[in-house]
Amino acid sequence: MPDSWDIQADVVIVGFGAAGACAALEAATTDRSVLVVERFSGGGATALSGGVVYAGGGTPQQTAAGVSDSADAMFAYLSTEVDGAVPEATLKEFCDGSVAMLAWLEGHGVPFEGSLCPDKTSYPTNRHYLYYSGSELSARDVAPPAPRGHRTHGRGTSGKVLYARLAAAVRDSGAAVITQTSVRRLVADEAGRVTGLECLSMRSAPGWARLAHRLLHRWSKKPYLYAPKLGRILHRPVAGLERRFARPLRVGAGHGVVLAAGGFAASREMMREHAPHIRGALPLATPGDDGSGVRLGVAAGGTTALLRRVSVWRFLTPPPALVRGVLVDRAGERICDESRYGAAIGAAVVARGGRAWLLVDRPILTQAHRQLRGTTLLFQRLQARYLLTSGTVSAPTLAEVAARAGVDPDGLAATVAAYNAATGPDPLGKPEELRRPLDQAPYSLIDCSIRPRLLYPAPVLTLGGLVVEPGTGQVLRADGSVVPGLYAVGRSAVGICSGSYVSGLSIADCVFSGRRAGRHAAQA
Ligand SMILES: Cc1cc2nc3c(=O)[nH]c(=O)nc-3n(C[C@H](O)[C@H](O)[C@H](O)COP(=O)(O)OP(=O)(O)OC[C@H]3O[C@@H](n4cnc5c(N)ncnc54)[C@H](O)[C@@H]3O)c2cc1C
Repeated sequence: MPDSWDIQADVVIVGFGAAGACAALEAATTDRSVLVVERFSGGGATALSGGVVYAGGGTPQQTAAGVSDSADAMFAYLSTEVDGAVPEATLKEFCDGSVAMLAWLEGHGVPFEGSLCPDKTSYPTNRHYLYYSGSELSARDVAPPAPRGHRTHGRGTSGKVLYARLAAAVRDSGAAVITQTSVRRLVADEAGRVTGLECLSMRSAPGWARLAHRLLHRWSKKPYLYAPKLGRILHRPVAGLERRFARPLRVGAGHGVVLAAGGFAASREMMREHAPHIRGALPLATPGDDGSGVRLGVAAGGTTALLRRVSVWRFLTPPPALVRGVLVDRAGERICDESRYGAAIGAAVVARGGRAWLLVDRPILTQAHRQLRGTTLLFQRLQARYLLTSGTVSAPTLAEVAARAGVDPDGLAATVAAYNAATGPDPLGKPEELRRPLDQAPYSLIDCSIRPRLLYPAPVLTLGGLVVEPGTGQVLRADGSVVPGLYAVGRSAVGICSGSYVSGLSIADCVFSGRRAGRHAAQA
């Protein structure tokens, strides 16, 4: 059988995003040969991302910002988010190793910085690179809060910098990378051990076809994020080129195959099957997130978990003033602590049928308008402007504004009366300093529902995947035994962020799980 391979390496990694790059870097520190096989040009969702890495326990950036934090506090907070997705010991290892993980990334050229963002935001502007990227402030009764969102230093959404630095490090490490090669099937020996891959590769396609494949994919990625229908249309010729020019390529893996092929938010079929309760959300994904990582692992005998867990984001800030509003459902009932992370708010809105409105009064709305410029990046400004104009109805009384929005007026009146009269701690946990009565007309209801809207989409990220052995990242069968020679990492696997996501936790998990699997596969 080995004679029939076109190429061979000890460790073969499927997918070249954050998880694949980190697996390759770790495997390349040994004397094993390492090969990354990538369907497009590399980068995946990682390169489009905000480049936020969740880290804590006293990183140099936290220290520079005058923030004190400990691995124990990080563990206590994350225990409330992780929801049993990984064993306690794994989460502990993740938190204890967090300072070292960030240093490892910096060692590979990924820049971070300790400028602390003073506001509650979904993503800081180019002046700030450290922020509260989860619901830490709302969970202060569980653990002392600390900002742990370490945004990669770079203008705009800085995932491109994070990926570029990791990709350069992989190339320097001696690992080989084949792009424009799609993995279609895993090959196993009689004992069930995964020994290689069957791919379709554009390597021998004419130069113009390879160039067109690369450019058309690149041009469709951004539209895919904001207008998936248009993105799909633009991406169709890419698949056409693959059908016409891609040729079989067999790749042998002497020690192990690591599946790092992203999630499945771009697979309409898998989303319908596993997340039918999510309607009107926008896949936070690239065309590569078609679930092939999960499907390859399942076909080789692996089992999956938490595929139903998807993270739907509904951020109320920026502008930060909006956090002082009250989020209600159609019945006028308050939904959740408005200062929580966007994914927690999204989950609460989904639980109320996807409809929600943020009630604000005159001072909040005025301040929100004033804050627009200073607290937003362009994409956030466009969303907030839309929301504060087309997405808002206003009226002199609560009853009138409720009627205009289609919210139950009696329910809204009761909610506001209770909110304004409350004296003790907020029953939903909103920090005291963010609460003040809503009593100055006119009142406005801002439509925060989850439904298709070009300028205020609700992005959705898949969190579940292949079940892996916690110490190694080896893919597990339903009976708990391992699929020999097969590993899964990043969003192809169940990981730290699979219970619930806060900003930075997916990439942090990609680094953690990628390094673990790369190390183990090389040593196997
Ligand atoms: C706009 C946006 C902002 C985000 N911001 C953040 C953030 O700030 N922090 C955070 O933690 N998370 C963020 N996320 C989520 C995060 O980026 C992803 O969950 C994470 O990067 C996934 O990494 P990965 O390595 O698992 O997959 P990817 O980075 O998607 O890489 C997978 C790669 O595998 C390739 N591939 C797929 N199938 C095959 C196949 N069959 N054969 C060969 N190759 C294949 C793909 O082409 C792709 O290059 C964001 C996501 C988006 C889209």
